[in-house]
Amino acid sequence: AIMVASSMATLSEVLGELQRAAGATERLVELLHVQSHIRTPATSPIVDAQSLSNDIRFEAVHFHYLTRPHQPAIDTLNLAIQPGEVVALVGPSGAGKTTVFELLQRFYDPQSGAITLGGQDIRRLSPQALRQQMALVPQQPALFSDNVIGNIRYGRPDASEQAVKEAAVQAHADGFIQQLPDGYHSFLGERGVRLSGGQRQRIAIARAILKDPRILLLDEATSALDSESEHAVQQGLATLMRNRTTLIIAHRLSTIQHADRIVVMDQGKLVDVGSHTELLARCPLYQRLVKRQFNPSSSH
Ligand code: ADP
Ligand code: MG
Repeated sequence: AIMVASSMATLSEVLGELQRAAGATERLVELLHVQSHIRTPATSPIVDAQSLSNDIRFEAVHFHYLTRPHQPAIDTLNLAIQPGEVVALVGPSGAGKTTVFELLQRFYDPQSGAITLGGQDIRRLSPQALRQQMALVPQQPALFSDNVIGNIRYGRPDASEQAVKEAAVQAHADGFIQQLPDGYHSFLGERGVRLSGGQRQRIAIARAILKDPRILLLDEATSALDSESEHAVQQGLATLMRNRTTLIIAHRLSTIQHADRIVVMDQGKLVDVGSHTELLARCPLYQRLVKRQFNPSSSH
């Protein structure tokens, strides 16, 4: 029996790793599955998400994935983010950065502690209402089998074609879209036009600009973009971040230097919080990260 139990644990760990490795589609399936485990309270009043202010608080948040009950992915996290603030999350792989985003979107709920938005526990909001308040720009944005307009409109299904185009202009995507064989009517996705990483990101930025959320979750690309895309993406992001509360999983030195605050994480714990200059002076882990990951001359 002991052998069975231990091999089961190993199997579930292996499956967990496989799921992580299997890419966007599998991940989406996994998240949809997880989503169904979250029950919105039927009796307690559900707060109107739209009316809440933009401050986000993590209060002694503890979370472990079900497949790894003995390894906290987030360990006693306390963090208050002010409305309009730009906060960069940095840390080695496995530090818990992505998990922070997943908890904020209620793909999972913490086992203890609470996450609040405008002072309200986000468990009092339906996941749908909560996610309506935020837009996620992932590292590798998904494109749907639809034309460019449909792909951007995904951010706000009732948006006019004019609004879609304005969002594309603000995302610095209009230029390359106009050059596609059928412009805004070019087909994207598996059988469609192939876009570069930087172009995909600008589609995702346009999608988020159109959605116009109060909270922005940004997972910066680790891979290098061509220099034209790089510049356009940075400008698009600057537009997108204006007047919003922004959390960025940062992979670029320029991004962390422009953040209001940098949160250094390691093994699920918050190690330090401060400005680039402060952390460079006092946080050994930050110094190592800057040297290794954020050195512009080092390749990823
Ligand atoms: P980061 O984004 O900083 O690299 P993650 O949030 O992805 O870190 O991971 C934090 C910890 O949680 C790591 O130990 C990781 O292996 C684990 N983890 C992440 N996702 C899962 C999952 N779906 N199932 C099990 N463990 C996971
Ligand atoms: Mg991650």
